[in-house]
Amino acid sequence: MRFLASQPALPRLVILAALFVGLLSAQTAQQAPSQTAAPNATIATTPAAAQKPPAKPNNPTLPAPTRAAMLRGAYGPYRANNDLLYYHLDIRVDPERQFISGKNTIRFRILKDGTRIQLDLRETFNIDKILMGATPLKYERDSGAVFVDFPQTLHAGQVYSIDFYYSGHPQEIGRFGGMTFKKDPAGRVWINTACEGDGASVWWPNKDQWRDEVESMDISVAIPNNLVDVSNGKFVAKTDLGDGYTRWDWHVSYPINNYDVALNIGSYVRFSDKLDELPLDFYVLPEDLDKAKVQFAQAKGMLEAFQHYFGEYPFVKDGYKLVEVPYLGMEHQSAVAYGNGFTNGYMGRDWTGTGISLRFDFIIIHESGHEWFGNSITAADPSDMWIHEGWTTYLESLYVEYRWGKADAIKYLNGDKAKVKNLQPIITERGVNEEPDQDQYFKGALMINTLRSVVNDDAKWWPLLHDFYQHFKYQNIMTEDVVAYFNQHTGMNLTPIFDQYLRHAQIPRLELLFGEEPGMVMYKWRADEDDFAMPVRAGKPGEWQIIHPTTQWQWMKTPLTKDEFQVATDLYYVDVNKQ
Ligand SMILES: [Zn+2]
Repeated sequence: MRFLASQPALPRLVILAALFVGLLSAQTAQQAPSQTAAPNATIATTPAAAQKPPAKPNNPTLPAPTRAAMLRGAYGPYRANNDLLYYHLDIRVDPERQFISGKNTIRFRILKDGTRIQLDLRETFNIDKILMGATPLKYERDSGAVFVDFPQTLHAGQVYSIDFYYSGHPQEIGRFGGMTFKKDPAGRVWINTACEGDGASVWWPNKDQWRDEVESMDISVAIPNNLVDVSNGKFVAKTDLGDGYTRWDWHVSYPINNYDVALNIGSYVRFSDKLDELPLDFYVLPEDLDKAKVQFAQAKGMLEAFQHYFGEYPFVKDGYKLVEVPYLGMEHQSAVAYGNGFTNGYMGRDWTGTGISLRFDFIIIHESGHEWFGNSITAADPSDMWIHEGWTTYLESLYVEYRWGKADAIKYLNGDKAKVKNLQPIITERGVNEEPDQDQYFKGALMINTLRSVVNDDAKWWPLLHDFYQHFKYQNIMTEDVVAYFNQHTGMNLTPIFDQYLRHAQIPRLELLFGEEPGMVMYKWRADEDDFAMPVRAGKPGEWQIIHPTTQWQWMKTPLTKDEFQVATDLYYVDVNKQ
C-alpha cells in the first residue's frame, strides 16, 4: 500500500504527541545493548532520565518539523525494536540511463518481539520486492519511510535477514548532491555520492538514522568495464560479468554511518603508499596524478598527528583512502572524498585569516580528522553533531600544534571567532533530523580550547583527550556522555560550562566593575546557566592570575587600572565587559 506523497499539514498536537512517542522509544533504545559498541560498553553511559529535557524548543519561531523529518529523525518503536548487524549493498549503476538497481541485504537482531520494522528509501525509487528467504514481505511507504511487515512474530534475541530490492533514477538533492551523474573535466563519466543531512536513503534502502550502525558491510557495484568504483573498506575483487559490466567488491570491517557509505565511479587511477603497516591508497583522475602525488603527501603527517593525540587510525583493516570528487569533500569512512583543487587552505583561501590555514590542505586535514570524530565516534542524533564538527575543527588546531606549536594553534583557533554567530544554541531539537548551524564547528572548537584552559594542565589534558576517544571509539554517543566523561575524569563539574556553550546562543560574559580609584575590581559571569562557574586568567598578560568568577559578584585587589586589566580571551572564548 502506498500513501500519498504529499501529506496534509499535521496539527501541532499530533506532532508533539509523535515526538513524545519518539522520545520514549529513544529512551527504551538506550537501555538496550549496542551492537556497535565494544563488548564492555553500551550506547550511552548516561541514563536517559538524567539527560536534559530536549523538549524546550531552541527557536519557537521555526516551523514545525515536516512529517518526513520526523519519520527520519525519530528513533521510533519500529527502529528501536531491532539492532543492525550487517548490510550487503549489491547494485548495478547504468551511467547512460542514470539508473540504479539491485538490493540491500539487511541483517539485524530483534530486541523486542514484533512484526514490523522501519527502513527508509526515498519515494522516487521503486521497491521491486522485499524478501525474507523466498517469502515476499508486505510493506507500507510513508514519506520516505518503509514499514516492513512480517507474516510471523520476530522474536527478541533472534537474528533475521531480508533482501530489499529496488530500482530507479536517483535525483540530485541537497548541499552535496546525494547521488550525481556528472562528467569529469575531460568529459568522462563521473558518478559520486554524498548524502550527509539528506540521508543515505536518497540512493539506497537502509535504516536511515544515526543511532544504530551495522557492524560490518559489503559493497558490490557493477559498472561498465572501463570504469573504476571506489567505495569504503578494503578492496576485495573485481569480476567481469561478461555483459560489458564489471562488479567491484569492497568489504568494511567496522561499524559505519549510513551517510559515509559511498560510490565513486570514474576513470580513476591509483597510487599507493604505506604508513607503517597501514595501506594508503589514492584515487584521482589521470590528469591530476602528478599534482596529487605532491598534495596527498600531507596525508601521512596528518595521520601521524592524529595518531599522536588519539591513538591508532580507527580503520586499519580497511586502510586509508583519499578519492578525488567533484565537490569539496566529505568524511566517507576510510575513503575520504577530496575536492579541494590540490591546493592548500580552503580552495586556496586562508580561511581563518591567520596566515596559518595556507600551510596545509584544509580538506585532507579536516575530513580525515572525522575518521576519529564522526566515523569512529558518532553522534547518535544529528542534534548533537558538534561531536563530529566541533571536535574535528578542534583537531585542525591539534594538527597545527603538532606541526608548528601551541602558539600557532591558539592563533589558528582564534581565527574561527569571526565565523561564530551566537544566534542559536549548537544543540538542536532531538529526534527530528535537525542539523545544527555552523556554530557547531567554530564555537564547538573554541569551547574545547576553553576547556583546555579550565583544566589548565596539559599533562592532564592530553591523556584526557586520548582516553576520551579510546573510551567511546566505534560508539554512537550524545553530549551527555561527553560531559559525564569529562566531569568524571577531571573531577570538576563542567556541566554548566558545556551547557552554556552548547544549549544557549550566548557565550558567557565576564562583567568587570572598576572603582573610581585603582585598587579594586568586582567580577562575575553573566550567563544563562545560573550555576555557571569558570576559572579564567585575568590581570596582566604574562603574569596572569587565575580568578574563579561565578554568577555572583566577588571582588579582588588589583594595582591595575581599568585599561590595564586584561582577560586571556585567546585561551577562553568569553566576552568581557569592563565598567
Ligand atoms: Zn566536518
